[in-house]
Amino acid sequence: MQIPFVDLSREATLLTDEIKNEIELVLRSGNFINGPKVKLFEEKFADFCGVENAISVGNGSDGLTFILKSLNIGKGDTVVCPANSFIASAWSIIAAGATPIFCDVNDDLQLNVKHLSDIVLPSTKAVMGVHLTGQLCDVKEISKFCVKNNLFFIEDAAQAIGAANPEGLKSGSFGIAASFSLHPLKNLSVYGDGGIITTNDSEIAKKVTLLRNHGLENRDKSKIWGFNSRLDEIQAAIGLIKLKYIDKWTDRYIEIAKLYSEKITEKVTKPLTKPGYKDVYHNYIIKVPEISRGKIMRELSKVGIETKIHYPIPLHLQECAKSLGYKEGDIPNTELFAKSMISLPIFPLLKNDEVDYVIENLNFIVNNLSF
Ligand SMILES: *Cc1c(COP(=O)(O)O)cnc(C)c1O
Repeated sequence: MQIPFVDLSREATLLTDEIKNEIELVLRSGNFINGPKVKLFEEKFADFCGVENAISVGNGSDGLTFILKSLNIGKGDTVVCPANSFIASAWSIIAAGATPIFCDVNDDLQLNVKHLSDIVLPSTKAVMGVHLTGQLCDVKEISKFCVKNNLFFIEDAAQAIGAANPEGLKSGSFGIAASFSLHPLKNLSVYGDGGIITTNDSEIAKKVTLLRNHGLENRDKSKIWGFNSRLDEIQAAIGLIKLKYIDKWTDRYIEIAKLYSEKITEKVTKPLTKPGYKDVYHNYIIKVPEISRGKIMRELSKVGIETKIHYPIPLHLQECAKSLGYKEGDIPNTELFAKSMISLPIFPLLKNDEVDYVIENLNFIVNNLSF
């Protein structure tokens, strides 16, 4: 059997007819940018997240930058983000003109709030909480910390559409604003690049709406220096189709994760969950001893199972981050996990016999290793 880490063509094939029809309608409408599909998608997305405003943008990273800029965060300011994240969490801060400060993570891979208090500086204006792997970061404690220290709490919700707390509040509704990615690999995706910002703050909504569209407040007048970073009508039409399936597909992510968690050997560390929280498993990450990770991944590959690492190089150790002055050993948990994590295949159209095949082979490999 060959089990891809993710196979986007399965879903695309399933939706081909529906998508063809919608694209044809957009073509016939002659509206390609700033049109009605985008507006409708934004309304439905805001409803889904339980927020007042959703503003689509060209990608999730720009969304983060625009949020920072709308809060007047820039030169001379610092913003905290976890060292265990995708590089965009950090470069979006750089792009706004500010400087990232990297925070360590807990065993659940989410931002460590205790470490936060050690690293904030007088120049710190915001904390970017990343809902990594589709699990909410500690929104309660981060919010509390931010209120106490007069900081903005921004959510990088790129991986976590639909993730919720026990009260049913969803990602994108906890911070001053949040950015989601609609990249093809994310849980709600379009067939190209895309992103969307959510916020209950009407001033931020207004500012990011200007920022994404040349700073234009009407056809001719630019109020502020802007960017060109928009979702287009065709991608919005695809997003509208995908939104109809998001609950069903999220349930499937959860179902696969449950099978993994129930049946994978206790010799590996499985994702930590908090009772009552809804995690949407953008990734399903196990941890294994550092010395055996390479071997386990190679053995899985030999039997046709593709795995990945999210992420093998912590943000503070990336070459581009050199000038920030971090060194190995500075952020210990993140560095340890970077050497011990393995992401297993997970996507809604992964079949049960494929899930079983992953479980059986992983268990066999791990049980026959001498750790
Ligand atoms: C994907 C991702 C982003 C960036 O989203 P793009 O739409 O690719 O720009 C930002 N943060 C995290 C955590 C992501 O996974």
